[in-house]
This record gives sequence, structure tokens and C-alpha cells, in this order.
Amino acid sequence: MDYAEIVFPVPLAHSFTYEVSPATPLKRGFLVEVPFGRRRAIGVVAEIHQNKPERPTRKVETPLHSEAVVPEFFWEWLGWVSRYYLTPIGEVLASALPSKFFKLRSAKQRPPSIRSSPFAKHWLTEKEIQLNQDQKGILSSLVEQVDKNRFFPSLLFGVTGSGKTEIYLKLLQQVVLKGRSAIFLVPEIGLTPQIVGRFRQVFGEKLALTHSGLTENQRLHEWKRCRDGSARVIVGTRSALFSPFADCGLIVIDEEHDSSYKQEEGFRYHARDLALMRGKIQNSVVLMGSATPSLESFYNARSGKYHLYTLRERAGDAVMPKIRLVDMAAFKRQTKSVLSLCDELHQAIAETLKRKEQVLILINRRGFANSFFCLACEKAFLCPNCSVNLTCHRASKSLLCHYCGYEMGIPQSCPSCASREVTLLGLGTETVEEEIKTWFPKARVARLDRDSAQKKGYLLQTLERLKEGKIDILVGTQMIAKGHDIPGVTLVGVLGIDVGLGLPDFRSAERSYQLLTQVSGRAGRGSAPGRVIVQTFAPNHYSIQCACRGDFEGFFEQELSFRRETGYPPVTRLIQFRFSGTNEKRLADFMRRLGSYLEASMKVHSGPLAGGPAALGPAKAPIEKIRGRFRWQILLKGATINEVQKGASLLASSVERSLPAGVKWAVDVDPLGML
Ligand code: ADP
Ligand code: ZN
Ligand code: ZN
Repeated sequence: MDYAEIVFPVPLAHSFTYEVSPATPLKRGFLVEVPFGRRRAIGVVAEIHQNKPERPTRKVETPLHSEAVVPEFFWEWLGWVSRYYLTPIGEVLASALPSKFFKLRSAKQRPPSIRSSPFAKHWLTEKEIQLNQDQKGILSSLVEQVDKNRFFPSLLFGVTGSGKTEIYLKLLQQVVLKGRSAIFLVPEIGLTPQIVGRFRQVFGEKLALTHSGLTENQRLHEWKRCRDGSARVIVGTRSALFSPFADCGLIVIDEEHDSSYKQEEGFRYHARDLALMRGKIQNSVVLMGSATPSLESFYNARSGKYHLYTLRERAGDAVMPKIRLVDMAAFKRQTKSVLSLCDELHQAIAETLKRKEQVLILINRRGFANSFFCLACEKAFLCPNCSVNLTCHRASKSLLCHYCGYEMGIPQSCPSCASREVTLLGLGTETVEEEIKTWFPKARVARLDRDSAQKKGYLLQTLERLKEGKIDILVGTQMIAKGHDIPGVTLVGVLGIDVGLGLPDFRSAERSYQLLTQVSGRAGRGSAPGRVIVQTFAPNHYSIQCACRGDFEGFFEQELSFRRETGYPPVTRLIQFRFSGTNEKRLADFMRRLGSYLEASMKVHSGPLAGGPAALGPAKAPIEKIRGRFRWQILLKGATINEVQKGASLLASSVERSLPAGVKWAVDVDPLGML
């Protein structure tokens, strides 16, 4: 008699044994619908064996398909992933396979309607680009590696506009010509219509697309096209990594530093690390690219773990923009100005408009102003559910919480002391947009942030209007900083970059460096030179200084020594435990008990964690409350990931044994957001 071990898309670490009816043709990787508890569920066959279980089992009948839906190499790959991220294989598979597979068949099954993507038409280039010497050298080295048919992790560090995208495209073409397939990851597909357009042009029907905007049916359709070989290149956000190409010669991770490669809910994985593991198993070239590599990747490149390619100059005639710093503290002292734009930026905008060129203004915060503040009791207006300031949005005439969406009318008086002396502090995209419209009434001004981009189609339309020169000034959040290649933009103004520097997160300097460099990189990509004006209250901070000089290596050295001193990645490895609960006292008591357990098991010589990783906390999270749930965290830190994983497994089993009702917890391996 055969038995099948079946895993389900649920957070349970073990599989379930079912009896296989003799005539059933079942293999590893097949999908089956079986009784599961009191209901029916769809699971994946993980193993077939002949060991009769002690307890009676239920039966598997006909499988749902006549072949395995999990490609064979997935087991080795995702098995590693599951161990690395301390996440049950069932949950990993649930993220890796189209969700449609796990849906019970309902009466109404509609065939997928596939509309071709609306992205393509506006973004075609007519001219064929000839690679320059540097690009050619890198391309031929990479092609050589693809031919060797082995794992080759590499980092392409090239300044903004150095022509990285052209290298990717030509390399992908080579891979397809050789009869193999390739994956191209982008941070956010809505922000990259240009890349999608170019890819469509080059690969036509051989291109598959995947991103969060697809319906389940569309996603399944694209998955099948990758599976049967009718698609050979897939472009998409992090989930594109799970496309079932049997022979994947190349995985490109464009803008590898981007934090959207990290999944922050449920199964918390980093697409870059999964890509490296997949490449190892499938003998692929894995190419990470960025003008501002993550500390981790550049560290690995320098130590020889990744091959490093460098492009120091912009491609074509374009040159790097000139960056000017304006000390806003001095400006405010001298002028007592209440305006958000300094005189120099104001004048630069006027000049740029006169030349009929375009302006981008980055402001690192949505809405109107940071917060309402009471001058009498000196309190900011906080969200009642989350411990963060409410942000004023004048369009909706309300104060809004950016974490939970809580909304209240704009108050005339302070909710705690009833004083009428309330004032707005700080600035946001809407404040700046309004100010600019007043000063430049003839200019065509648009705003791009998460609020304005909620309207369907707005994002794409705005990027197209910018490209076509129909917008003179675009005000926006980091959305405007990402990857766009708009030759008409010659001036970039940066406001409020310092906000990020004050956050209690060891990556805040790195993020500021990246944001400033990326947004500056939008200026002067065509033949007209670009300039950048940065208003800052921290003109001497090394991340701002280095970004201005375009000195990535200098920044890397300083940041690395800071990480060494404080003991943070890439010098150490981290695993974070997060806890939340609505009952503040119950959560705090539990955290105290866990704290004593940690202390006992680490300090005492014979304790299970002795000599293992260091534990920071339990401590309240920097944002103590979100959506009415109180938050605590424990950070495990060690020299190697193995050591930290061992400690984490022990801690996890202790948490599982003693978890009070109502407390939720999650493990985050290699955490990105520390707030
Ligand atoms: P990156 O991805 O490094 O930011 P892109 O590949 O988007 O840079 O290239 C920036 C601009 O330079 C694009 O408009 C592109 O068409 C152009 N470009 C790239 N390579 C060359 C080249 N060899 N000669 C001329 N222009 C080029
Ligand atoms: Zn007050
Ligand atoms: Zn809130």
C-alpha cells in the first residue's frame, strides 16, 4: 500500500499522511483535494512512501491534474527556503504557486480573460542603441558566464543612467537565443512602464508579466505560459521569482537595494536571497543591479562572494548632475521665511520653466503637514489606535493616520486641553504643491504620491504626461525617484530628506543615501545637463555629503564602520521576533516572562542559548501601537546566520508553548524595517 505525505497552505510545520488508492497515479508535486478536518482542502503531495502509519488514515482519490504542478527543483529550493526562514513548507508553497491552485472548485468557473497590458504603446524607442565599450565588456563577460551553465552571482554597480537596462536587455536576448529562459525582477511594475514597454517590443509573445494587479486567473495563465515554454522571459515583482521555468539561465534583480523585494507579511522573504538560492540550484547567472547597492550586496561583492561589475559614467552624452546643498537652518534664521522652498530653488524653477524643461520636487512625506501641534500643552495630535502623528490632508479636509487609515475632521481646538492655539508643523506633498501653484500659476503642476495614485490609471497617465512633456513640475514622494528615464527633466529639488535620518533604524542613513542618489539620478539624463538642489537641516551628515559627491564607496566605508561599531548587518546577522496584542497588560506580562526565559537560557552556562546569539529586548517597538495593537519585539543578533537561526528555533518553541490567547507573533529573518 502507498501512502502520501500531503502539505497544506497553512502555518503548520508537519505534513499529513493519506492512503493512496491502488489505481491512483500519484507522484510528488501533484495537487489533491482531500478531506481535511471537517472540511475539504487542496494540498500538495510532498512524498510517496510505504510506511504504514500508526493511526488510520483517510484516502486520496483522483488528483486534480494529470501531472505535478510543483516543478521538481522547487523541492530542494523551497526546502532550503523553508528552513532558512523558519517557515513551514506549506506556507512557502502557498506563496510560490498561483493561489488559484488552492481554491476549491466552485460552480462557476470562468476561463481567464487576458487583456494585453495597457503599458506597451507609449514607451517604445525607435533608435537601436549601440553599447559603448564598458557596456560591451560587461555584456560579453556575462554571456560567457551564461554559456558556462553554472551559478554566477554578480553585482552590476553602475551610476544612474549608465545604461544598465540596455545591458540587461541584450543579455536576456542572448539567453533566449540560446533556448533558455530568464526572470527579470523589478521593484514595482506600475513605476516601470518604460521597461515593460521595451521588453514587449523586444520579446513580444515570449514575454510574461506578473504583479499584484493581476487577477488570479491572469496569474495562473502567465504561470502556465512559463511552464509550457510559450513565454521565455518573465518581468515582474518579487513573486515572478516563482515562475516555473525548467531551464532558467538568468535572474536579474533590477534596483536590488529596493525594500519592496522584501515581503513584509505572512511568509517574510527577501526575493534577492531566494534568487541566489534558485540560481545555485538551477545553475543560473544571478545579476543584481543598482546605482546604490545595499550594504549587504556591496559587502559581498567586495569580499569576492559576488563578481563586481562597475560603470562609473553615464551612457551617451549625458553627464552626472551637479548637486547643491542649501542649509535650511541658516536660511530660516536669516529670512524667518515660512515657505517650504528656499530662494535658490525658487529661482532655479523659474529658470528651468523659462527654458521649457521639466522639474521634479521630491518631498518625503504625503499630505499637507507633518502634524497638528498644540502650542498650549505642546502635544502633537496622535492617532488613537497607533502611536503616530496624524497627517493633515486638505483635499479631504481631514487628519489621517498613515498606518491604520483613521480619519478625523480638522479640529479647531486641542483634543486634550481645548486650547485654540493649534498649529500645523512640517510639510508634505500637498503643502508644496499648493505653494508651487501659487508661485508659478502658469506652470502645469501635478502630484504623485500614494493618495493621488489611488485613482485607477492615474500613475501611468502621470508618468506618460511627464514623458510627453505635458507636466512642467511634478511634486511627489519617493515614487518619483524610481528608475524613470525622462530626458526633459533637468532640475530636481529635494525637500525634507532629513526626516529619514532621525528614525530609530540602523538603516536610516543608507535609505537617505539611496533616496537622494536615486532622485538626483532623474536629472539631466538627456543631452541637457541636470542640476539638483537639496534643502536640508543636516548638511554635514555623511550620507548627504557622500550622495552629493556621488561617492558611493566613501559612503559605504563610513556606514560599514558604523555597522561594525554598533554590531549590525552586514557585519552581523539578525532575526527579529514581533509580538502584538490588544491587551496591553497581558502582552507586557508575557514579554516579561519571555525576557526571564531568555536571560536564564543565555546567561547560565548550561542554558540552551549559552554562547549563542545576543538578544536585544524584549522591548516596546519604536512605534508602540498600530491599529489598536500594542507591539513588542526581540532582536537576536549573532556572527553567523546559523547561530542566530538555532537561537531563534529555541525561542520559537518556547513562545509556542507559552503563548497567551490574543497575542500574535511573527519571526522575521534578516529584517528590513525596524520600526
Ligand atoms: P540605468 O538603467 O543605468 O539607469 P538606462 O539603461 O536607463 O540607465 O540608460 C539611460 C539612458 O541612456 C537611456 O535613455 C538609454 O537609452 C541611454 N543609453 C544607454 N546606453 C547607451 C549608449 N551606449 N549610447 C547612448 N545612449 C545610451
Ligand atoms: Zn493642548
Ligand atoms: Zn492609526
